[in-house]
Amino acid sequence: MSRILTDDLPFDLTVPVAIVGGGAAGLCAALAAKEAGTDPVVFERDALPQGSTALSAGLIPAAGTAAQRAAGIDDSEAAFAADIQVKAHGAADAVVLRAVTEGAGPAMDWLSDVHGLAFTVIADFSYPGHSARRMHGLASRSGAELVDRLRAAAETAGVDIVTGAHVTALIATPEGRVRGLVVSRPDGSEERIGCLALVLACNGYGGNRSLVAEHIPALKDALYFGHPGNQGDAVLWGQSLGAELRHMTGHQGHGSVAHPHGILVTWAVVMEGGFQVNVQGQRFWNEASGYSEAALAVLGQPGGIAFDVFDDRIARIARQFEDFRRAEAAGAVLQAESTDELARRLSIPRQVIRATLESVADLKRRRATDGFGRDWAGVPDLAPPYRAVKVTGALFHTQGGLAVDGAARVLRAGGVPLPNLFAAGGAAVGVSGPEASGYLSGNGLLTAVVLGRIAGGEAARLARAEP
Ligand SMILES: Cc1cc2nc3c(=O)[nH]c(=O)nc-3n(C[C@H](O)[C@H](O)[C@H](O)COP(=O)(O)OP(=O)(O)OC[C@H]3O[C@@H](n4cnc5c(N)ncnc54)[C@H](O)[C@@H]3O)c2cc1C
Repeated sequence: MSRILTDDLPFDLTVPVAIVGGGAAGLCAALAAKEAGTDPVVFERDALPQGSTALSAGLIPAAGTAAQRAAGIDDSEAAFAADIQVKAHGAADAVVLRAVTEGAGPAMDWLSDVHGLAFTVIADFSYPGHSARRMHGLASRSGAELVDRLRAAAETAGVDIVTGAHVTALIATPEGRVRGLVVSRPDGSEERIGCLALVLACNGYGGNRSLVAEHIPALKDALYFGHPGNQGDAVLWGQSLGAELRHMTGHQGHGSVAHPHGILVTWAVVMEGGFQVNVQGQRFWNEASGYSEAALAVLGQPGGIAFDVFDDRIARIARQFEDFRRAEAAGAVLQAESTDELARRLSIPRQVIRATLESVADLKRRRATDGFGRDWAGVPDLAPPYRAVKVTGALFHTQGGLAVDGAARVLRAGGVPLPNLFAAGGAAVGVSGPEASGYLSGNGLLTAVVLGRIAGGEAARLARAEP
């Protein structure tokens, strides 16, 4: 379906800036393009713009925001960039990294001050790898609220969002200048829309099994937890136009999806002092390294499942997340008044679960680091009643994509930008490098919101400069 046409047939309509995809990246691009003085049009294949953004926890990392200052949090762009680069093992694209870490604080303040999205910082626990508390979310801590509020802001600003508009082909010159796109409508009709600049905001290829098998073979049979409409169109079109693809093996996995309920259980249950055991009751890795690499760690256990074990205090913290409340309502979160009841409910021998709980308690008492490398210093002890959730690993979204520069312009191999093509969010290369373990919490929405804003503004400037 991801065709490039080179015909010169007439267009039904020409718009200055066309944006493919109505998730966080597309809607932020639209807001910025409108603000820069053009009339962008968003083309979204679904009846309602949601994307993976709506499935996410909606948490966006940023340094130096008004929300952080209000919470008394001291942070800096440099510390933020360093944290991302450490997690990415030094492989994060330096130009994109700089653009997004410098742009994140202003982007969050812009969404808040200009568009009324009242972000607050998650101040009661730390995400792995972040040296400051900098995850910003809306009241429900859900991506559904985030995308709804972005859509409402775009509508208020007068942005046209065309839904049920599946972009099935781009129309370009042989030199790689995009002239327009073909939109396929639910009734089978097609429209040809011309554009002066194009922003690809249609995420990555997580929903495309054959691309996942090609680039991330270890997760080819894993549950895909992102939006099914994300079929890799951006990378396929970009590749046909001569764009460079970068870090295609990079992705965000997650090792805490309630099974069989299919509901995300926040990693806070682990970071606040919980841990994971396999069906034999044994811990199997350093859970504090991150939730992205947890997917493979959990899938590597017998049956591809594990249990998150935590307690009532942690459940109270986790309850701020709508997903966690849904998991509780669905009966995914077990409660046990004692070690023996926990053993019974998990079908793990009593002496095994006791020994595991005792060894974790001992590590915490001694403020020691265990054999997996997890440092337990300052981590509160668990106390009955215990809580546990049966979980599995999943692919959340892909982090590799089109090479872009700091202005979100899509680059050919060798670094020369294509004439009028921009990419943001999951369509563009992220800042996680080529490995799952390179993903720092929030890297996904970071490039969606911040690169989206940059792409929209730059596309609008380009379109306005056209004769
Ligand atoms: C369960 C889950 C939890 C997550 N939690 C977080 C989190 O808390 N923080 C974080 O930073 N990241 C998180 N992520 C990752 C985050 O959701 C993504 O990185 C982010 O939403 C990407 O935004 P986007 O706008 O690029 O893509 P999307 O939100 O997926 O939007 C892309 C849109 O493009 C549309 N589209 C695709 N192809 C076409 C086409 N050909 N024509 C027209 N429309 C098209 C799709 O329908 C979709 O609406 C999570 C992901 C998942 C799955």
